[in-house]
Amino acid sequence: DERGGVRSGGPRLRATTVEKVMTPLNQCFMLNLDATLDFQTMSEVMRSGYSRVPVYEEERGNVVELLCVCDLECLDPADCTPLRSFTRFYGRPLHFVFSDTRLDAMLDEFKRGRSQLAVVQRVNSEGEGDPFYEVLGIVTLEDVVEEIIRTE
Ligand code: ATP
Ligand code: ATP
Repeated sequence: DERGGVRSGGPRLRATTVEKVMTPLNQCFMLNLDATLDFQTMSEVMRSGYSRVPVYEEERGNVVELLCVCDLECLDPADCTPLRSFTRFYGRPLHFVFSDTRLDAMLDEFKRGRSQLAVVQRVNSEGEGDPFYEVLGIVTLEDVVEEIIRTE
């Protein structure tokens, strides 16, 4: 079937979850909310080559903001702007999805929303304590589309 020009795939696509195609947290290029947008940080961001950079507070599993690299275009590194105030100003929406979200649903979500990146989380109830949300990685439209093309 045809939806928005992209085929929504066969049974395999529906069976595959975002966890299978995501970029794991330890491979994510991220910034600390306490960072300063000085020359060094901005160079690192540019060198990473990514268009979107998740921002964490205190620990990498605690993703709180999303930095869109295009927003940096007019920023002067000499101003040493705190990342915290920069992301607060732009207020880019940050989306969370559960790790068992299937790719056809994820594709629909990406097509509906304006964001092309989502933070993948699961409910961790393995330990003795209360269950908690655990961030596993990030998934982008490209991860989903790549899997669609691969399985076609
Ligand atoms: P765009 O193509 O819109 O410029 P991009 O090249 O930064 O974006 P995508 O094309 O969305 O990124 O994704 C390419 C791959 O990079 C995907 O596997 C995605 O999970 C991964 N990726 C995206 N952002 C990051 C990041 N900040 N850190 C690590 N991996 C990332
Ligand atoms: P709840 O009803 O459980 O309080 P919420 O209204 O906070 O959820 P959202 O803010 O839309 O929901 O967040 C979506 C999901 O991501 C929620 O389950 C939320 O608990 C979780 N979440 C929000 N912020 C983070 C974070 N920084 N790290 C991990 N998970 C988060």
